[in-house]
Amino acid sequence: MTELPARRLLLVHAHPDDESINNGTTMAKYAAEGAQVTLVTCTRGEEGEVIPPALAHLAPDRDDRLGPHRVGELAAAMKALGVTDHRFLGGPGRFRDSGMMGAEQNRRDGAFWNTDVDDAAPYLVEIVREVRPQVLVTYDPDGGYGHPDHIQAHRVAMRAADLAADPAFRPDLGAPHRIAKIYWNRVPRTVAEEGFARLRAAGAFPRTATVEDVPGVVDDALVTAEIGGAEHAGRKAAAMRAHATQIAVEGAFFALSNDLGQPLFETEFYQLVRGEPGAPAGRREDDLFAGVTS
Ligand SMILES: [Zn+2]
Repeated sequence: MTELPARRLLLVHAHPDDESINNGTTMAKYAAEGAQVTLVTCTRGEEGEVIPPALAHLAPDRDDRLGPHRVGELAAAMKALGVTDHRFLGGPGRFRDSGMMGAEQNRRDGAFWNTDVDDAAPYLVEIVREVRPQVLVTYDPDGGYGHPDHIQAHRVAMRAADLAADPAFRPDLGAPHRIAKIYWNRVPRTVAEEGFARLRAAGAFPRTATVEDVPGVVDDALVTAEIGGAEHAGRKAAAMRAHATQIAVEGAFFALSNDLGQPLFETEFYQLVRGEPGAPAGRREDDLFAGVTS
């Protein structure tokens, strides 16, 4: 087996842009520190809405070229973060964006939501057994906010983590590997509330989203880790800008295609859901690898 870097982080996301919004600071930090950072994106985000009018023709109901375009945006974002290992689950275009919950696209052939978890998970098992991460980051069971592809990304990630550790499962996909720590993306409620207060005071966008629109908001007590650092947050903003069809960044704030302003969280937050915390009880970890021994 080829020699692996000492620290290995795997992130599983639904669409290009989710990784930069949720984990841009974290990915930039660990990449800069020499850790192996692997991003797996489950769809190309073909059903997204397009912000710049000049690119509106890419939309699924027109040229349907948004998927390939977003592959390029993702590559630019990864360059901004310093991440070199980014892949699509099963290869680009294997699973298609399912659209919002209840949309007709949910039931389309090849839609990620319309795929059996056990049909999708082996693609991730193979990656887990290759890159052998100690830490996995993904969404909570609601996908943070109920988008079908985010829910499915959660299910596939959790299922693949179990299957990858099982020596009886598909030995042809590599030697078994147990992921030491699994985290879900979170935002503490007080942080979200403070962010919206700053946004309203700055008046950066004419209309703003609400705390309820932010994925993964929970009571502060559930949050077990926080990763910050201004030097990495600049890269996060650059990565978000690279997703120009999806995100409009204005200073410390941004908007998606709904044009509702949101705070751009420089510090990112997590809930440890599997594995041993590497911080004393009642204290948040400041390193996702804390306590990882091998
Ligand atoms: Zn998404």
